[in-house]
Amino acid sequence: MNAASRSAALPVLEARRPQISRAGSDSGTVSCEKKSIAGAVSQRACVFCGSRVVLYPVADALHLIHGPIGCAAYTWDIRGALSSGPELHRMSFSTDLQEIDIISGGERKLYRSLLELIDKYQPKAAFVYSTCVVGVIGDDVSAVCNMVGKEKKIPVIAVHSEGFKGTKKDGYAAACDALAALMGKVSTDGISKQSINILGDFNIAGETWIIKEYYRRMGVEVVATMTGDGRIDEIRRAHGAALNVVQCSGSMTRLARFMEEQYGIPYIRASYIGVEDTAKALYDVASFFGDAPVLERTKQLVREKIDEIMPLIDICRKDLSGKKAAVYVGGAFKAFSLIKSLRMLGMETAVVGSQTGNRQDYEVLQKLCTPDTIIVDDASTLELARFVLEKDVDLFIGGVKERPIAYKLGVGFCDHNHERKTALAGFEGMANFAREVHATVTSPIWRFVPRRNTRSSET
Ligand code: SF4
Repeated sequence: MNAASRSAALPVLEARRPQISRAGSDSGTVSCEKKSIAGAVSQRACVFCGSRVVLYPVADALHLIHGPIGCAAYTWDIRGALSSGPELHRMSFSTDLQEIDIISGGERKLYRSLLELIDKYQPKAAFVYSTCVVGVIGDDVSAVCNMVGKEKKIPVIAVHSEGFKGTKKDGYAAACDALAALMGKVSTDGISKQSINILGDFNIAGETWIIKEYYRRMGVEVVATMTGDGRIDEIRRAHGAALNVVQCSGSMTRLARFMEEQYGIPYIRASYIGVEDTAKALYDVASFFGDAPVLERTKQLVREKIDEIMPLIDICRKDLSGKKAAVYVGGAFKAFSLIKSLRMLGMETAVVGSQTGNRQDYEVLQKLCTPDTIIVDDASTLELARFVLEKDVDLFIGGVKERPIAYKLGVGFCDHNHERKTALAGFEGMANFAREVHATVTSPIWRFVPRRNTRSSET
């Protein structure tokens, strides 16, 4: 069976068709920002997961999941955000609701759990995540949080992230609201005029540290990082920064807009994925401040980093030219940068999709992609497998849920999501990305995969 007939054997649900498009050959619109279709087995996570990915890296806060123990399976081991100091975020706490709590309510258990945990771990703040069951039984989580906050004199914040109430993006919104609740209450004295907050980097493998070092060299103060290597006291002063630089726009634009309206802080979008977009992000920040020494230092930094990285890119490009990739990521803004990075390595993107892209994002993807590239919103496992086979790609870029698809179909894989251990941001990240893509795409192992073995494919 050849790739085309294998791919035809994997169906796409009729109701899903509006969320799939081909660059250059369709009307150009991809239906998006809607709940997953029942039965489609979407790759996308729930509302609670969306809020957890955003807030989890705040390392000196207590993170308590109010719900059954199953929801708490999403731990630091799955998303290992790094901290340069405290590591309370590595602990996973749950109220472990049982049947009796469902019947008689979980508020008392939540209250007692919070008091015990705060006494034991002395956190700077606590986030309490509501899960599906809590939404169904109607616990007043905000009231319990307010009571404990007054008693213990720390911010105790209810995160309204009941899993069923929308998409992962609604979880991002709940997380932004929780971060916003921390701001505006303490002094911002002493913050430089040339200062920023970094929004939407989660320091999974040290990316926040790479980016902060660039800004240090440029002479720009970073007030708070939200939330990679995040600290409660820094987030509480974030409303004193002059500019918000938003990387993961899907998760953090809501917070940036709130801060613009509430505190008059403008925001810009930035991406630190790839040479082109990293350089643009740094120049955009330098230009915002319009300060000649900052601009000069930025030019020097970018020039130095590009000179360092280009010999490696040239070597990788020789082997990777003409190879094809599939990209499936959380936010579409990252997909834009990945398409450009792959192009720099001589590779074409044949399939691209996201969990949380909006209409404007998909319009940009239509323009950015070569004709006939498959563009997909909120894909399922079977759909992705079908597209990988149809386009016969050499590389799949995704996260932990996409890795088995790639390996089962005999395709190289690059983790660009929660589980990676190598930083892929900035110029150093691009060098790591080039090495990783080169190693997986050119691995001799793929010759032995049945799909690529002529004798097996004839049987
Ligand atoms: S919040 Fe709901 S959908 Fe999310 S993990 Fe818990 S039970 Fe599952």
